[in-house]
Amino acid sequence: MTDHHRLIIVGSGPAGYTAAIYAARANLEPLVIAGSVTAGGELMNTTDVENFPGFPDGVQGPDLMENMRAQAEKFGATVVYDDVTELDLTPGAHSIVTALGSRYTAEAVILATGSAYRELGLPNEKNLSGHGVSWCATCDGFFFRDHHIAVIGGGDSAMEEATFLSRFASKVTVVHRRQELRASQAMQDRAMADPKIEFLFDSEVAEVHGEESLTGLTIRSTVTGETSELPVTGMFVAIGSDPRTALFDQQLQLREDGYLHVDGRSSRTSVEGVFAAGDVIDPVYRQAITSAGSGCSAALDAEHYLADRAQAAQEAGQQAQPQTANA
Ligand code: NAP
Repeated sequence: MTDHHRLIIVGSGPAGYTAAIYAARANLEPLVIAGSVTAGGELMNTTDVENFPGFPDGVQGPDLMENMRAQAEKFGATVVYDDVTELDLTPGAHSIVTALGSRYTAEAVILATGSAYRELGLPNEKNLSGHGVSWCATCDGFFFRDHHIAVIGGGDSAMEEATFLSRFASKVTVVHRRQELRASQAMQDRAMADPKIEFLFDSEVAEVHGEESLTGLTIRSTVTGETSELPVTGMFVAIGSDPRTALFDQQLQLREDGYLHVDGRSSRTSVEGVFAAGDVIDPVYRQAITSAGSGCSAALDAEHYLADRAQAAQEAGQQAQPQTANA
């Protein structure tokens, strides 16, 4: 059986849930396909969020997302913890199939699929995932008590992971490919002030060692090419993320950098009735608050689209009626 909705939102980070709150308050009764493992998005893997307005003492990432979900449901959104496996974005007839076998159609769709962690692309990296190699300090940090851990990357995520991991680790070595960090000054200062954190600049991981679990890394200088060994038993990869577009990259226009194209400051994609929000359209800001803001824009755009469509259908009906009567 196919379940029809006026609006379906794919994804459940700050963008998806904010879109759901706005759409639900506009009586659109949106369905949110939240993801089975990824529900709540990246903030589910974060601890303190100190920069989301309205929380002067900070808020835990998972608590923030739970509150957004509850707020959306309170106004009439339905959240299902399922994964979209097929998406047909034919204009006027959008259809969705999920991993659990549900089938949906929708007049309008908001894509808020976020982004996925980048990998280094080294041969042993994936093999040792869960055996010393991880992408999530808050998920796995606890298992590395008294270990020497490497964190790869120089952005906010790397600083956050390093600072978090220093609670458990005997030592944290941040390996960054340049001399300057990309992270914000506040996050840099915190990591630099931590006596357990040291920095290896102008350095990259050349090899990942270990059979059953991680035993060490070969580090290569990005300046001289010289190599050295770093005897770590944990490696956290924090080198950013790429937009998650695999479900629809053959149907919607993408930008050259792989992000989903939207029309100017709107959330309109290249297909009528399909809108997008959050990290999947944003290569620049990528903050929880900017994602939430773009989720709001997408809901408003979808609401206007659906209202125009309903009005056009009504006018077409009114025009058709006298003709029928005269016939
Ligand atoms: P990011 O800002 O894109 O930084 C990625 C880092 O990884 C950069 O330092 C980059 O080096 C390095 N890198 C990229 N590819 C690499 C490769 N193949 N090998 C080695 N190093 C590589 O990503 P992010 O840190 O995940 O942050 C993403 C967004 O989320 C940002 O807007 C950030 O502000 C935000 N964020 C905010 C918070 C917070 O405020 N609490 C926490 C986490 C993230 P280069 O510098 O040389 O390019």
